[in-house]
Amino acid sequence: MAYDADVIVVGAGLAGLAATAELAEAGRRVILLDQEPEQALGGQAHWSFGGLFFVDSPEQRRMRVKDSRELAWQDWLGTAAFDRPEDHWPRRWAEAYVDFAAGEKRAWLRSQGLKIFPVVGWAERGGYDAGGHGNSVPRFHITWGTGPGLVEPFERRVRAGVARGLVELRFRHRVTGLERTGGAVDTVTGEVLVPSAAPRGTASSREAAETFALRAQAVIVTSGGIGGNHELVRANWPERLGTPPEKMLSGVPAHVDGLMLGVTEQAGGRMINRDRMWHYTEGIENWNPIWHRHGIRILPGPSSLWLDATGERLPVPLFPGFDTLGTLDHIMRTGHGYTWFVLSQKIIEKEFTLSGSEQNPDLTGRSVRDVLGRARHGAPGPVRAFMEHGADFVIESDVTALARRMNELTGEGLIDADTLRRAITARDREIRNPFAKDSQVTAIHGARRYLGDRLIRVASPHRLLDPAAGPLIAVRLNILTRKSLGGLETDLSSRVLTDSGDPLPGVYAAGEAAGFGGGGVHGYRSLEGTFLGGCLFSGRTAGRAAARDVG
Ligand SMILES: Cc1cc2nc3c(=O)[nH]c(=O)nc-3n(C[C@H](O)[C@H](O)[C@H](O)COP(=O)(O)OP(=O)(O)OC[C@H]3O[C@@H](n4cnc5c(N)ncnc54)[C@H](O)[C@@H]3O)c2cc1C
Repeated sequence: MAYDADVIVVGAGLAGLAATAELAEAGRRVILLDQEPEQALGGQAHWSFGGLFFVDSPEQRRMRVKDSRELAWQDWLGTAAFDRPEDHWPRRWAEAYVDFAAGEKRAWLRSQGLKIFPVVGWAERGGYDAGGHGNSVPRFHITWGTGPGLVEPFERRVRAGVARGLVELRFRHRVTGLERTGGAVDTVTGEVLVPSAAPRGTASSREAAETFALRAQAVIVTSGGIGGNHELVRANWPERLGTPPEKMLSGVPAHVDGLMLGVTEQAGGRMINRDRMWHYTEGIENWNPIWHRHGIRILPGPSSLWLDATGERLPVPLFPGFDTLGTLDHIMRTGHGYTWFVLSQKIIEKEFTLSGSEQNPDLTGRSVRDVLGRARHGAPGPVRAFMEHGADFVIESDVTALARRMNELTGEGLIDADTLRRAITARDREIRNPFAKDSQVTAIHGARRYLGDRLIRVASPHRLLDPAAGPLIAVRLNILTRKSLGGLETDLSSRVLTDSGDPLPGVYAAGEAAGFGGGGVHGYRSLEGTFLGGCLFSGRTAGRAAARDVG
């Protein structure tokens, strides 16, 4: 039986685009399948903030950050905390990925036209000792043009392959089976879904018009994770985090359904680390949702007071932006699925960035004038819109009214105005000196010694109750599903492995489906900005390996 292509790629997100671009440039014939319509090309990466993890970059050096491959590897190990036998390949992928991020990654992307915003962000600051979780230094580089700016060069390369007659794009093709006719998996089966005009990001119909079967020498699975499928998230919820919260927002569109992972398992592929996930604790309900249960993540600066549902301050070092999973772990122990930021107008203006390309029209639209305008015009427009319309925001000029409105919002009456005032006042007494007993206050002062934070990210220290700092603001924070850290186990050539540890002949995986490489390159936690780069690195690896192997 003749082959329809050399390689079939399942999933036209960033990982699938990176793999397809490599295959086409190696002269291989590719069919790229996706269940969504063409307008959704690029998958999650389109919606992303475009944050990229680079090590010892010129941007860092210009911001007077001294970074090194050794420091980054120390941070990665402290953050990943690899501790399982199945971490063999993830750990090897991690080492290769840190080398990539410290080496050719930036030049490779720049050679494709990618530009980077000059101020480097400091995500996951940790707050433990040198060997613990977190980035010792700022490493979060924002793509000029955010997610769409990152997708652009890879889409361009794939479309060049289409123009050369090497790549065929087939949308509305939903893969439901991987089959073998000989020793290797060589057949992809599924349903052709009815045409859909659903705008990008919205759910498209799953009604099938017909079935299909396509043959190729190899298949690359780049179908993404499980974050849009709350049933799967709940089924795989890690025991160490107790029972999953009753209410969760979705940080990803519905197509992140995880079903293709089950299809690959059925064919003999091995899933590992499925209980490792990366969900955010600073999710707010999108007042203008694109997808079902659409939540937006606040990328917070370090100054907001973080309180649990009962008004207790979160323990040290669970400050905003320090330890995502440590915070989730703590929240799950409180017995409530939400927490609060309490802050001032002055803090929201400088410290609230909303993750997502559509929430940052200035960066996405590459407008220097609008980006500079952030410094002049108070809170960015999208943040102001949430303050006006967002279901989770309370704004008041005094603590008593703030507490009352917080209680009205939840209907639970857990916030006591006097306790809240005591927590705020105690913190405010600590802020007057450039040194303090309060670790969060010390961290704020420390952050402002980093030029980037001082310029655009961390408000000058002030009392929350200072009337000049503007009204008080409380923001209810929900749990937001986002990334799968586990996935299909792959070797360093992105070949999917079976339970016996041997490659599943003909099958490769990359991107979130492969836990961004190996089946869990991040271990338990991430240093951030590592997901998009993980798609590029593992997608490129899979494309190059399959191109070589199909000869
Ligand atoms: C709002 C937001 C902000 C983010 N910000 C950042 C950031 O700043 N930095 C960072 O590193 N990461 C970020 N991420 C994460 C990152 O964008 C994703 O992890 C990454 O894009 C996943 O890419 P992927 O190619 O593996 O999968 P996806 O983008 O999910 O693409 C998978 C594709 O496969 C298709 N598919 C699935 N199953 C099938 C099937 N059975 N048949 C056919 N097709 C199928 C889907 O329709 C989809 O198009 C963000 C994500 C979001 C949503």
